[in-house]
Amino acid sequence: MSITNYDYIIVGAGAAGLNLALNLKTDAYFKDKHLLIIDKLQKKDNDRTWSFWEKGRGKWDHLLHKSWNKGVVKAKGKTLKLDLKKYNYKTLRSSEFYAYAKEVLSQPTVTWITDEVLDIQSLDNGAVLQTKTKKYTADYIFDSRIPSNYVLEDIQYLNIAQHFKGWVIETETPVFDDSQFTMMDYSLKDGKSTSFTYILPYSPTQALIEFTYFSPDVVSENTYDLFLKKYIKEHLQIDHYEVIETEKGIIPMTSFPFASFSEEHIIKIGTAGGWVKASSGYSFKNCERKSKQIVEALKLNQNLNVDSAHFKYKHYDEIFLEVLTKENHFGEELFYRMYKNNSIQTIFRFLDEESSFGEDLQIILNLTSAPFIKGFIRHLKSRLKT
Ligand SMILES: Cc1cc2nc3c(=O)[nH]c(=O)nc-3n(C[C@H](O)[C@H](O)[C@H](O)COP(=O)(O)OP(=O)(O)OC[C@H]3O[C@@H](n4cnc5c(N)ncnc54)[C@H](O)[C@@H]3O)c2cc1C
Repeated sequence: MSITNYDYIIVGAGAAGLNLALNLKTDAYFKDKHLLIIDKLQKKDNDRTWSFWEKGRGKWDHLLHKSWNKGVVKAKGKTLKLDLKKYNYKTLRSSEFYAYAKEVLSQPTVTWITDEVLDIQSLDNGAVLQTKTKKYTADYIFDSRIPSNYVLEDIQYLNIAQHFKGWVIETETPVFDDSQFTMMDYSLKDGKSTSFTYILPYSPTQALIEFTYFSPDVVSENTYDLFLKKYIKEHLQIDHYEVIETEKGIIPMTSFPFASFSEEHIIKIGTAGGWVKASSGYSFKNCERKSKQIVEALKLNQNLNVDSAHFKYKHYDEIFLEVLTKENHFGEELFYRMYKNNSIQTIFRFLDEESSFGEDLQIILNLTSAPFIKGFIRHLKSRLKT
């Protein structure tokens, strides 16, 4: 069997893999480097709708589907208005992102393959990869496959998931206020779980509506459908609509040590590299930030494992996970307190891991409650044990 050699191989043409590939191959420093991108799928469909916030203009503005400067959180029977000021909440359809990346990366030094990766092993000065049909070697392999050791049911770690199903619906008459998005609406919940509806109104007649859980157990497809139908009928009071697109997802919110699966020449990226913010489930902006850091580290011959979140944020994330894992019923109150007592700008800075110690303290004090204190104590005890 012949073996083909590349400088770099990226496994997975998703948010992380393509952000990394774009950063590499639009940098003159890497212009002669040969890159192989392998994905088991063709990556043509809109399999995800990515949303993120950022101040002012951003790298993906030319591809955006929609952006908002105002939002709402509905919890505890109240409507909290979010005035994003300098921030915008932006939405990007993955199909647009894939098509753009394919166009920019259609270069003689970039090879694309559709195949399934079965195994990757370290070599002395690189790594070797086995697909269903062939072997490839490279100096570095960037791998977005989630380690098989990660399972939601593993009680060794704090483990919940952001799991959801969403419908893009189209109505005949204008019903949506497309000037604001709904971050969380707790007016319809599945029992006492942390479950809510998320709405991105694209136009007065079209919106993405997702029934979402932050919880330890996933539910059947039928359950999401029932809640979506109920919310649309009873809360939005829409009787006639057409479902024009569906999306589903299970995003890990966990203390599982993804980054520890990286080796010197095999670097885990994306969800598989621990790039999902454990307390929020967001990761698209992290794919942008961390792939840039990898490219800079490659140039300087530095450590490529960029899981270097400040220790304080790891602790904050774990306290959030402690509360949501052990006292899932408290989610609505937790997020209500967070959005009611802090400006959305402070919350964004906190989630972006850019907040000052004063802002952290303000958020933590505003969340102080019996479940939060218990979560904090459990976290302290678990840290003291390790
Ligand atoms: C439906 C959905 C919506 C989301 N929305 C948001 C959002 O709004 N904002 C946000 O910040 N985050 C969001 N996320 C979370 C996160 O940003 C995405 O999951 C993001 O796509 C993660 O990037 P990734 O590159 O790690 O994984 P992916 O984008 O899933 O890419 C991994 C790629 O690896 C390929 N692959 C896997 N195994 C193999 C193999 N053995 N061989 C070859 N190829 C393989 C897959 O086909 C896939 O293309 C969402 C997630 C989902 C599922």
